[in-house]
Amino acid sequence: MLQIKDIRKQYQTGDFVQTALDGVSLNLRDNEFVAILGPSGSGKTTLLNIIGGLDRYDSGDLIIDGTSTKQYKDRDWDSYRNHSVGFVFQSYNLIPHQSVLSNVELALTISGISKAERKERAIASLKDVGLGDHLHKKPNQLSGGQMQRVAIARALVNNPNILLADEPTGALDTETSVQIMELLKEVAKDRLVVMVTHNPELAHEYANRIVNLKDGHILDDSNPFELDASASEEAVHRNLGKASMSFFTSLALSFNNLKTKKARTFLTAFAGSIGIIGISLILSLSNGVNNYIEDIQKETMLSYPMTIEAQSIDLSSLLQVDGEAPSDPNREIDPSRDAVYGNSFVLERVSSVTTSIKENNLTAFKQYLDDPESEIHQYVGENGIQFTYDISFDTFSFDSEETLVNNDGSSFEEEDTASSSSMMSPFAMSASTSSSHFQEMLPGADEASVSQAILDSYQVEAGDWPANYDEVILLLNAHKEVETSALYELGLLPASDYKEILAAIDAGETLELEEKTLSYEEVMNTEFYLIPASDYFVENEEGLFDDVSGDTAAIEGLLEEAIKLKVVGVASANEDASYTMTSPIGYTRALTNYLIDYSNNSPVVLAQEANPDINVLNGLEFAPADDEAKIADAKAYLSNLTLSEKAQMMQEIMMMSATSASTQATMPNAEMPESSEETANADEEMAMPENAEELADLEVAQNSANPEAQAAQMLSMSEEELAAMFDDYLADPDTESLLMVYDNYLSPGTLDDNLLAFGSISLDAPTSINIYSDSFEAKDGITQSIDNYNKTAADADQISYTDLVGMLMSSVTTIVNVVSYVLVAFVGVSLVVSSIMIGIITFISVLERTKEIGILRAMGASKRNISQVFNAETFIIGALSGLLGVGISLLLLIPINAVIHNLVGTTSVNASLSIPTAIALVALSMTLTLIAGLLPSREAAKKDPVIALRTE
Ligand code: ADP
Ligand code: MG
Repeated sequence: MLQIKDIRKQYQTGDFVQTALDGVSLNLRDNEFVAILGPSGSGKTTLLNIIGGLDRYDSGDLIIDGTSTKQYKDRDWDSYRNHSVGFVFQSYNLIPHQSVLSNVELALTISGISKAERKERAIASLKDVGLGDHLHKKPNQLSGGQMQRVAIARALVNNPNILLADEPTGALDTETSVQIMELLKEVAKDRLVVMVTHNPELAHEYANRIVNLKDGHILDDSNPFELDASASEEAVHRNLGKASMSFFTSLALSFNNLKTKKARTFLTAFAGSIGIIGISLILSLSNGVNNYIEDIQKETMLSYPMTIEAQSIDLSSLLQVDGEAPSDPNREIDPSRDAVYGNSFVLERVSSVTTSIKENNLTAFKQYLDDPESEIHQYVGENGIQFTYDISFDTFSFDSEETLVNNDGSSFEEEDTASSSSMMSPFAMSASTSSSHFQEMLPGADEASVSQAILDSYQVEAGDWPANYDEVILLLNAHKEVETSALYELGLLPASDYKEILAAIDAGETLELEEKTLSYEEVMNTEFYLIPASDYFVENEEGLFDDVSGDTAAIEGLLEEAIKLKVVGVASANEDASYTMTSPIGYTRALTNYLIDYSNNSPVVLAQEANPDINVLNGLEFAPADDEAKIADAKAYLSNLTLSEKAQMMQEIMMMSATSASTQATMPNAEMPESSEETANADEEMAMPENAEELADLEVAQNSANPEAQAAQMLSMSEEELAAMFDDYLADPDTESLLMVYDNYLSPGTLDDNLLAFGSISLDAPTSINIYSDSFEAKDGITQSIDNYNKTAADADQISYTDLVGMLMSSVTTIVNVVSYVLVAFVGVSLVVSSIMIGIITFISVLERTKEIGILRAMGASKRNISQVFNAETFIIGALSGLLGVGISLLLLIPINAVIHNLVGTTSVNASLSIPTAIALVALSMTLTLIAGLLPSREAAKKDPVIALRTE
């Protein structure tokens, strides 16, 4: 039972106030068919909307089954519309993109009824209005009458107590109107039907009560319903359950909605995806460029690690031009100068060369590097920090003809080194770089024997990478080559052939060598015999150590004890290898460690360390306390000379004097002695010179100014004669001459030199440190860390280094940064464009669906439901645009990469979209659409349902 009590409603448009209802009171029975008649603008629709809870009254009350609606909240009205009221409109107000069945289901969907029940009830309701065969048609495939039946089915599907129909036959022909009226009359049998109509005949024929309305007043009522005022209690407010709809339902609803307009959805998503495409393409490009730059940086840093030598020259200070250089074109002319000026640039430069040589205390610095807390570690790249030690060893091998070759190439050195042609021969050149056939390979992180940089740069052709100290690998270039001379010197090719080749070169023949090839198996069978430097020092009877490195027989003996290095693999450099080794044989850090340990425990090193004051090679004191000690050493030395040693020494003295004579411009007019006897006599009278130069002067005084004559004279003397001459020379040695002999012929050396020669190495004192970083930025962090280290370190421990890459690359870094900033700016712009686009699209979608919002509201959807539906829709569209954007981008990347590769001429720049980025972009698209759609969806929710329904 509905009671309308003195309801008033005014509409205000600007200053104009339109009274639509002016104190309408009407009691409606639970079960009757009321027709409301009246001219246009009399307030019929307004009255109907107020009864249906779609519009609000200004004053009065609407009492529903004894419940006052004065305190109704939005959600009470929503619930009332959803559960108790069904609306039928003149213009049907079906949702065009939903099927007939879905349209009817909608009212149930809003009530949160399960899908199966929804469908069952909707079909039943449609059958009731005679449309059981048209379930899956779209509204525009039906006639007007059929559409109105769908509207009635929809209004009744919730089984409401009240059906409100606003001119339901207004758009229909007479025949169809009659059918609709019949239907409504049927419906009115068990509920209240209030129908607005223009058509008095139909009203009179079908309705059982007619109310006439004019200018917001009731003119007359054919069957008024008077209530006993005393019987009715005071109306009280009761809360109603709310019309509920889960987000999932909204999602499904929106999904169905979007599914029914595929093309439109696709276009919308495509428009939204354009922004995403823009972003993802720019990200991919910048990703590709950044990867390329990173690779280049990594490769550069691999080739130019920050190297700190035990002894360093600060190149950057040398390269600094202070504007004083005479040839500097940028130097300004000073017009005020009017005299002769000296330019000291060159002298200052020379002085700076000498002063810029600096000793680095790498022991202290290594302690800093070994401390995991040190700041520098955050910048160190994947190749880590490498400590280099000066380990010294020789390797030998037997060629296929069982000839022993020293792998440093010395086996092929000619005896006659004075020969000019042999000096020019390639072997002479390779001999100078002899020991470089073996090279330690950059060790990997985490104790791996070979660094990833090497593994990435080489490809194993046979065998495997060495893992143990006694394993090595042969490293080929990208063409699978090794320099032929190296193959000979390593004993991989027969030594006799190489000797022939060298002889031919010596003879001045033009060489044309046939190409030599070795199978991997042949190489893998090779063994190298390694003799650590300390093994060359063998203890003699006197308890001193002799250097046997020049003694072939001794070496052959040592070979039996030698460490055997096995070639366990052959690898060739990749075409684009970023790290290549300079030597053909690579060994592991394990061998270095083994040799350091071996040498440190060798007899010679132990002996030297036990006697740090005495040189174990000659028994001399390293640092004699005074001249007495030196004289004693000199006497001991001279008394032990053999005949030939004496002769040799005399010869050397004479040679020395001859060379210095030939270089002296002024000569005293001296006579050339006629014979050797005379020379000997002259020597007897001679006072020992203080130094070599003086000695030379004396010699010159006695000999001819012509050095050739002198050399000839010397050569003519026998060993005995020379020895006798020497004995005479030193018959009565004075202090000065003995000191001279000590200074010139006795070298006590230093403890450090000896230990170095014996191969003794302290792990705490590397000779150089290579610090690898992965980017210029990290490298800058490393230099910064070293500078910070220097701030805290003692003066003597200051580290000086040359930042080669920093000097070469500072401009590159700037360019790289500019490129990155530009790319970021591009991404930002496309982001903004994309979100604006998505916002506009969502807004248009809302405008377009205004009517639908009204319909949904009329069926009981709450404001929240409405915004939920729209949010769900933007959510789906956002996901769709994101996926579409990413998909299209991936497709576009194929031709884009082809173009880039073509333009840049390299395949190293690869625009690519990473999976996390793709996911992030889809999420971004969804977030953007949601945000962009939030405002329009709130707008939509706020829309007055009455106005929304009036919208065309
Ligand atoms: P009917 O349905 O009987 O033709 P209405 O109830 O639609 O009449 O309108 C009654 C009066 O209220 C009319 O004069 C109409 O112009 C006015 N009116 C209805 N809705 C609005 C509105 N939203 N804003 C301003 N005036 C309105
Ligand atoms: Mg109307």
